[in-house]
Parts: sequence; C-alpha cells; structure tokens
Amino acid sequence: MKFENILAFAKQLDENDPLKHFRDQFYIPIINGKECIYFTGNSLGLQPKTTQDYVLNELEDWANFGVEGHFHARKPWMPYHEIFPTQLSKIIGALPEEIVVMNQLTVNLHLLMVSFYRPTKQRYKIICETKAFPSDQYAMESQVKYHGFNYEEAVIEVSARAGEYAIRTEDILATIQEHGDSTALVLFGGVNYYTGQFFDIQKITEAAHAVGAIAGFDLAHAAGNVELQLHNWNADFACWCSYKYLNSGPGGVSGIYINQKHIADTSIPRFAGWWGHTKDTRFKMEKGFEPIPTAEGWQLSNAPILSMAAHKASLDIFDDAGMDNLIEKGKLLSDYLLFIIDEINNDLKEKLIQVITPRDAKEKGCQVSMLMLEKGAAVFEALKQHGVLADWREPNVIRVAPVPLYNTFNDVFTFGQIVKAILER
Ligand SMILES: *Cc1c(COP(=O)(O)O)cnc(C)c1O
Repeated sequence: MKFENILAFAKQLDENDPLKHFRDQFYIPIINGKECIYFTGNSLGLQPKTTQDYVLNELEDWANFGVEGHFHARKPWMPYHEIFPTQLSKIIGALPEEIVVMNQLTVNLHLLMVSFYRPTKQRYKIICETKAFPSDQYAMESQVKYHGFNYEEAVIEVSARAGEYAIRTEDILATIQEHGDSTALVLFGGVNYYTGQFFDIQKITEAAHAVGAIAGFDLAHAAGNVELQLHNWNADFACWCSYKYLNSGPGGVSGIYINQKHIADTSIPRFAGWWGHTKDTRFKMEKGFEPIPTAEGWQLSNAPILSMAAHKASLDIFDDAGMDNLIEKGKLLSDYLLFIIDEINNDLKEKLIQVITPRDAKEKGCQVSMLMLEKGAAVFEALKQHGVLADWREPNVIRVAPVPLYNTFNDVFTFGQIVKAILER
C-alpha cells in the first residue's frame, strides 16, 4: 500500500479498517480531558469494558456459593483453567494439551528451567540474546548459579554487530554451532522488549536441536502480537504473560507451552504441586505424585480465579477479532508508523530518529523502537503533554506500540505531527 502523511489518508484507513469497532470495547485512559493516544499496550494492555462483568460474576458466585463455587459457579472454579488452551492454541500456534495457564511469568520461566535446563559438566551453557529482559537475565543467572556454574562461563549472549541493532539470525545460528557440544539450552525472547526484533523461532529451534540442546522461548512481547506456530516449529517450551498484548490486567496470569513430545514424559524432573496431579485421584490426598499427562501436569496451585476471569474476558475478544486479522492490522499500523518516521526524517536537514526495529515484516511485531539521535527527552516530554503514552528507555530510546485492537491510524498520524513539530523547532 502507498501511504500518505496526511490526516485524510489516516482517517480513510480507519474508516476501511474491519476491526475498527473493537476500540469501543476498551477503556481508553483520559489525559487532559480527552482520550489519550495509548502506545504502551506492549507494557500493559488496556482494560476491556467486559472485564468488570467477568470478575464480578466470580465475586458473586463466591458470595453465593462459598466453597461450592468450585463445582457450582457459572464457570466452575475447579476446572476453570481448562477454558483457556483452545483459545490460546490459536494465539500461540500449539495443541491445547501443550498449554496451561498458571502462576506468573518469571515463576513459570523458573519452573520450565527446572524441567528443561538440566546441565551436566559437559553441557551446561545457555545461549540467549543480549539485553534480554532483566527478569529473564536474573532467572538465568540464578539458575546457572543454582547448578554450580557462573554467569560469565555458562551464559552466552549473542549480540548485534557493531553499528547494528538487530541480531542477525546467522550469528545466532553460528553461536549455537560454535558452542554446540557444551550447550544445554537455547533461550530466546520471541520478540525482544527493547528493539522489537521478532526472532526466527523455527530456525533457532532447528539449530538448537541439531546440536542436541533444548529450545525455549519467552513470548511476553510476542503472544497476541505476532504469528506464532510453536508446535509446528517444534519449540520445546515457552512462557508468556497475559497483561501486555493480551490485555488481562496488571500482574495477570501467565501461560506456558510444553511440546507434545515432553508432556507425558515422567522422567523429566519438575517441581510438583497438587493441581498437577491426576484429576481422578487428586482429592484422595494421598502420597505419590502422578502428573496429568498434559501441560496441566506442571501446575502447582489451584487457580487464581479473579485474575483468570480477566484473562477470559480478553481472550473472548481475541476470538471475536481473530488472530490473523489482528496480525494483518498490526503490520499495517507499524508499517504506517515506520513510513511516518521516515517522512519526518526526510523533511529534516539531518536524520534525528534511528529506527532500531527491523523493517522486515517477518522480523517485527507492532512495536517500533526509535533511537533519538537528538532531542529525545524533549520529544518524549512533548508526547506526554499532548496525551501520548509511549515508553522511554535509557539512554535515549522511545518505544511505541500501536496495537490493532484499540489503536487507530489517526493515532499514528497525530503522533507523527507532534514529533515532527519538536524536531523541526
Ligand atoms: C514483561 C516481561 C517480564 C515480566 O515478568 P513478570 O514475571 O510478569 O513480572 C519478563 N520477561 C519478559 C521478556 C518480559 O517482557
């Protein structure tokens, strides 16, 4: 599509947008008396208007039924988590039995590493991206220490080349090759939180398997954002949070994926709890853990229903909208944003914005990260004053994520006008 940097064009795109009605299903925060331009759905997705009802229903059922709500609530609490895998299977591209919703993200990353990072003296390394999200870095650091290794020796970070921002897939594959004999786990983000780079999960998985290592992915910035085919790509495990693109509320429940080939393998060690125990005999309350032979077998605790109700409200919207449609609109939004940024740069005497997100549709999601060569702080301040919520990362990166469920092309156009005005001053 040939884009134009004019209001009428942006409005036309909004008019023709088959998903335009979904915006009305969300609360848009008000700043200075009007709806803000919310570009931080990659950090905390907005609240669906239906969430209150979903959560209130559970509070009512709790009031009405007490403990009996486990069986008699409108959505009984005992099997509550079972309503998610079918919906999530379309979002992450996996079989329902490979998925379970439980706990929170970093907790799940640790639990998955307990099962899938089992270093030996020969094979103990973890290969990951440089500048992984800090919680993931701490998880890896503490895991390697827990097994008696140190970070410098055991964690191999793949970096971008000098002068580049995205990490080349060929460099990732070469690093896996190079450390092949000593690598236990290859652990990457799906989409890097800082650069917005969408990694080639399939190629990384193939390379990991070729050297006899496990391939795991943290999909916090990928789930609900980009096209995922975890099962077909043969990834071993993954985890994600539900409060970014998945709009399920602050600190919301996390999801995990474990490849079918592992789910019934009882030789894989795990930290167990009663909710992972075979359902028929769970309430016999007897000794001897027998895991459910699906991803559910990794559950520990009974489900946090209030948080799960919020998750359900959001996933029902994803079902209505359709992941394919969302991905298509997300691409168009971020392409339009890239076009607008290029226009701004072209109109300046010298380029002041360096886009550090890859431009290839296969290597990015909704997010565009702008390295501000000058006036970064002034631009960010002006955005705030004009009611645009974006995200600032030291030293000078502004992350902007227009998301397909509630952002408009007009949002992107208006954002461009504000940035342009400051940079041209
Ligand atoms: C957002 C995010 C987290 C946050 O972890 P929580 O356990 O949910 O607080 C962790 N890792 C990545 C890659 C993230 O993007």
